[in-house]
Formats: sequence, C-alpha cells, structure tokens
Amino acid sequence: MQNDILNQASVILKNIFGYDTFRPLQEDIIASVLNKKDALVIMPTGGGKSICYQVPSLIFEGLTVVVSPLISLMKDQVDQMKYLGIEALLLNSSLARDEYTENMNLIRNRKVKLLYVAPETLLKNEILALLTSVQVDCFAIDEAHCISEWGHDFRPEYRMIAQVRKRFPGAVCIALTATATERVREDIRKSLELKVSSTFIASFNRGNLLYRVIQKNNPLQQTLDFLDEHKNESGIIYAFSRDSVDRLYLSLKKHGYSVKPYHAGLSDQERRENQDLFLKDKVQIIVATIAFGMGIHKTNVRFVIHFDLPKSIEAYYQETGRAGRDGVNSTCLLLYSYSDVHKIRFFIKEKTDGTERRAAEAQLSAMTDYADSASCRRIPLITYFGEEYSTANCGMCDNCISPPAVNDDITIQAQMFLSCVKRTGERFGAGHIIDILRGSKSKKIEDFQHNTLSTYGIGKDISKSSWQNLGRQFIRNGLLVQDMESFGELKITDKGYRVMKSEEIITGTLIESKPERKSAAAGDDYDMELFELLREKRRVLAAEENVPPYIIFSDKTLMAIASAYPQSHESLIQVHGIGSNKLQKYGDVIIAVVRGYCTDKDITEVKIAPVEQKPREYLKTPRHIQIGGMYNSGISASELVENEGITLKTVLSNLFKYVQEGYTIKADGLRSLLPADDDLLRAITAAFEKHSTEYLKPVFLELGGAADYETLEVCRLFYLSKE
Ligand code: ADP
Ligand code: ZN
Repeated sequence: MQNDILNQASVILKNIFGYDTFRPLQEDIIASVLNKKDALVIMPTGGGKSICYQVPSLIFEGLTVVVSPLISLMKDQVDQMKYLGIEALLLNSSLARDEYTENMNLIRNRKVKLLYVAPETLLKNEILALLTSVQVDCFAIDEAHCISEWGHDFRPEYRMIAQVRKRFPGAVCIALTATATERVREDIRKSLELKVSSTFIASFNRGNLLYRVIQKNNPLQQTLDFLDEHKNESGIIYAFSRDSVDRLYLSLKKHGYSVKPYHAGLSDQERRENQDLFLKDKVQIIVATIAFGMGIHKTNVRFVIHFDLPKSIEAYYQETGRAGRDGVNSTCLLLYSYSDVHKIRFFIKEKTDGTERRAAEAQLSAMTDYADSASCRRIPLITYFGEEYSTANCGMCDNCISPPAVNDDITIQAQMFLSCVKRTGERFGAGHIIDILRGSKSKKIEDFQHNTLSTYGIGKDISKSSWQNLGRQFIRNGLLVQDMESFGELKITDKGYRVMKSEEIITGTLIESKPERKSAAAGDDYDMELFELLREKRRVLAAEENVPPYIIFSDKTLMAIASAYPQSHESLIQVHGIGSNKLQKYGDVIIAVVRGYCTDKDITEVKIAPVEQKPREYLKTPRHIQIGGMYNSGISASELVENEGITLKTVLSNLFKYVQEGYTIKADGLRSLLPADDDLLRAITAAFEKHSTEYLKPVFLELGGAADYETLEVCRLFYLSKE
C-alpha cells in the first residue's frame, strides 16, 4: 500500500512535472501527507516545498486548499499549475465578481484539485460553506511563519486557520516555511494544532550558489566588471538606500544595461511595472532596496549583488536565496568595506533599547565574520542557523576555489602600517592610515599635516585594495584593535608592538587573490547558441501568453535541451522539467527550433543518460529520526549505544523526542533495560499514569528515589511504546 502510493507519486513527478527524482525529504513528506499525518516542513527558498502538497493533491480524491499570504505568489503558482495541466485556481479579493463566482462553481462541481486562497478569504462564511459541501483532503499552509508574532511577517488572519481546520476533521494539514526559529516552529505547531505531526527540516545549504566577497573600493566599476562577466544573465543588485539605488540605476542605464529601480519611494504602479518587466525577462537587472523580493518566484535569477553590506546573516541569506531557485548555478557577490560596517554601527548606536541594540550588534558581527572569513563561506553562513557544516571544500565559494595564500612574510608592511598608526596618535581609522601610506593629497591629510610624516607615501607601491586587505589581516592577527565604540580608530596591541620592534614576524597574503572568474552559469556544458535561440523562442511564447517565461520552461530545462538536442517527443519527454502537458503544448515548437539548428550545424541528438541519483546536498535526517528509525528496525537501545558510539542517555533522549513528535516505538528494544523487579516497574507505571510523562521529577519524587533517572527514562519510553 505504502509503496503503491509512493510509486504513484513518482509517476506523477515524472509525467506531470517532468522531474526524475524527488529531492531529499520530499518523498517522506509526501508519504506523511498521504497517510494523513500532519507535517511541518522547513526548507530553504528554492528547496522544493510546493511539490510536497502539489503531488499529493493529484492523488487525493478531494480538494487541496493552499493558504498563501500573497496574491502575487498565488497567481504565479496557479499559472504554473495550469501550465502543467493541473486544475488549479485561486480565490482572493483581486478577482472580479464574475470570475470569483465562476471559480466557486468549478469548486462546487469538483472540477478543481488545488485551490489557492488568501487567509481572509478562507474565513468567509460562503467559502467555508462551499468547502464543507465538497471533500477537502488537505490544507497546505504556505509561509506558515506568518502565523507567529515572533516571525517577521505576522498575519493575524493566520491565527484563525486552526478554527477552520476543526470543521474538516478528515483533512491533513501541512505547514511550510523557509524561515523558522525553534520558537516560531513551536508557535506554528501550537497555533495550527498540528496533530501527531512530524517536523521535516531540510538543510539550508544552497549548493548551487557561489558565494564571493570582494573588498569594495570602486563599487560602480566593480559592479560593471561583474556584469561584464555575466552578460545576458538576470540578476538583482541590492543597495542600502533609495538614493543609492537611484544613482546606481542611472549609472548602469548610462552604460547601456537593461535595468530598472525598485524602492519604497516609487509609486505603487512604477514598482509593479518594474517588477513585472523583470519577472518577464523584459528587463535584465533590478537595482533595489530590501523592499524588493518578497513574493518573487522568478526562478532564473542568476546573480544577487550586495552593493552595500546587509545588516545580518539572516537578511543576507534571504536576499541571496532569491538566486538560483531553478537549481542552476548562480552567483552571490558581496562588496565589502569597513566604512559600511561603520555606517550600520552608527544606526545601531541610535537605538535606545539596550536589548535591541545588543541584538543588532551581534547580528552585524556575525555578518562581518562571514565577510572577513578566510575559510569556506558556507561555515559561518550555515552554522548561523544551527546546522552543522563540515565539508572540507565546498568548491562553490571564493575561499574554497582559491584559498588565500597565507605564507607571505608581511612583517615589513605591518611595520609601515603600525608606525603610521603610532605617529598619528592612534586616532584614525584604516582608510586614513592607508591614504597617508599611499601619499594621498586629500584635504584631511593636509589639514592634519600628515603629509609631513615620515610614513607619508612610503607604501605607494602597494595598491589601495591590497592595503585594505592587509589592514584586515593585521586586525585579524591581533596587531591592532579597532575602537568600535567611536569611529573605528585603530590602537596597537602588545603583539603589534612586538612586530614593530621586529621581535615577532607576521605572515599572510600580500597580494589579494584575483576574484574568482569561474563561470557560474550552468553545472554542465550546454550549447550557448542554441540556448539563446530557445530563450528567444520562450520569450516570444511568454509574451503571447502574457506569463513570465520561467512558467513555460525553466532555464534549467532550456539548458538540458541545449545539451541533448532532442528532436522527437520520445527524447524531449526525458528532459528535466518536461511533463506530458508541456510536451503536448510546446513539443513541436521546441523540436522545430532544435531541428533547424542541428541541420544547419550538422549536429546529431545526444542520448540522454539514465538518471543518476544526485548526491545528497541536504542535511541528513535529524538525529532523533535516524535513531528512532534504527531502533524500530529492530536494533535495541543497548545495541545503539554500541553501534553508534553514543551514551545511553543520548539514545533515550532522542527516542523520547521521536515519540514526542508523534512516532510510535516498539517495546522490545527496551526490555533488557527495564528494572528486574516487577513491582517496581508497576509502581513506576502507576506514577506515570498519575503525573503524565512530560516531566520525570514528580515521578522520581513519588517513588522516593527507588529508581534513578535513567531507569525512569527507560520506563517512560516503555510506557509510551506500543504496549
Ligand atoms: P520553494 O517553495 O521551497 O521555494 P519551489 O517549490 O518553488 O521551492 O521549488 C523550487 C524549484 O525547484 C521549482 O522550479 C520546482 O519545480 C523545482 N523542484 C522541486 N522539486 C524538484 C525535484 N524533485 N526535482 C527537480 N526540480 C524540483
Ligand atoms: Zn567553500
């Protein structure tokens, strides 16, 4: 039965969605939903949450209701479903009355598999009455963090969903979100009254994103250089303020780029238009403040540039997460400077609330740790979310691709720098020190008469960016400390003095490694020329049908076509992202393009190799689920201690967590650990009955110390096990 259902799910994945394999966890989640077990799903943006309810919706007899907070998201998803040939529609306040009525009729006549509703629409009596008259099998709560006041997009209407659910006892509930701290998770479970439920947490590692940080010294030029290397790619550039968005937008426009701005200072209409042009690939680049992005489902964003430093890792992760939703390699570039750090710190200091201020400081310092890191960027990024990350070389960040050399002797440069700091009375920041070393003619230098110092101009052979890089290394190596309380002035440490007196040498990187230029476009080779032809065709089709191009085919699909040159329906259906509906709709058009191209160039079709299981880039199943699974497969608790090299306490607490999440465990694997004394066991069981199983202490006290905590823990599990 279980296998039948999962087979059916795989067939749907292939035939309708055109995908060969489920991503990790998707299958488990789908199985849980189909078994009517509630689930909480935490997956990063682009992780593939939607499939988790879309596939079941096609297996359930009745309706799947998707609650979604944003009209733009709903519309996007309904379009996607329609293009896959799935009967989906939406109900919200944006619809004209007759469309609304028509949609209601379609639901009433059971013509619909997936219904997307806004929460406030769901709460309406006429909708509730309608839904009660048909069979609802599943509620999918998208962006479930909106239910929590602790989350960042609290929506009071979300709180009412639990009431609605009560009216549909036969429907399973799946809640999905990309952002959730433990507190928010707990809030979601409680507020939705998720019954025996499992929490599925995917890894937050986005394997297809290339992370790069460069020292910001001439940001406009650096951006232009980057764009020059990423011609024809679609991307977002985030800047700090409206003002800098406008300036950057104008500069890029002047340089001939296809670009639009987006910020809260524009009219609603302008914002909508610019966003729409971007989604439809009619504009290549959007320069935006952080106001842009919520609800952007465009899958072919190939790069995200941070022109200014973001305030926190969370913000950075979320903003960069908009790149590469389609799984194609994409680049995240951060332009990093200390003056940005100061700018943010300045705003933090304005905060009057001490707790808030400290939180903001901690967030900023995590962000600078990321930017300053000399090792894999994924470590500070991913461990920030409480996940372990220990891959030796990710191959997809600047530091892993070209690790900074650490063996140059930079003692002389350190001495120059330090003595300049000393001679200016330890009252200046790195920027000014570098200006002196490089013999700048700035007004500030003249005002302070720093052009008369013996260190003036002694470092002019080293570029400004190399000096900035050196300065950071000196701080990192503890030769200098920066006074963060005021203007970032540098003070020399004891270690710094020892280096100045040549008592200690210091090694590091003299020349900054050149920014990595590895193509971040596609994972595999594909024919760029054909890709462009296909893209053009897609653009025309999308314009005719007035939908974003990625709804018709993702970039990944076009790349796959441009590497296999399929020229028949049989070959085309093998391609990633092509299901039966798209084959029928566009098969001939695509084949015509490919044929024409291949005939011209005398190229033959490449047989598509059978799918290989992709390496698991997702987190292993959570530990307690692993342990619970092993235990239930017949490995006893004591054997787990042996095999896994962990303590009994760990085994027991993981099993308890497993049970708390609604899993059942067998009793057998615990028997050997139970107290030999039957009377004692009976007394313990009675005590659990009396005090419930949440806490051990009352049970311990009741027994007057007759059993220790470990025994109680074993007995509690036994009590909670199937018997
Ligand atoms: P999320 O809602 O988690 O941000 P989506 O559900 O929009 O992510 O999925 C992101 C992209 O990945 C979509 O284009 C989706 O079709 C694709 N996708 C999802 N699951 C798979 C899979 N098993 N194989 C290939 N692509 C997938
Ligand atoms: Zn790395």
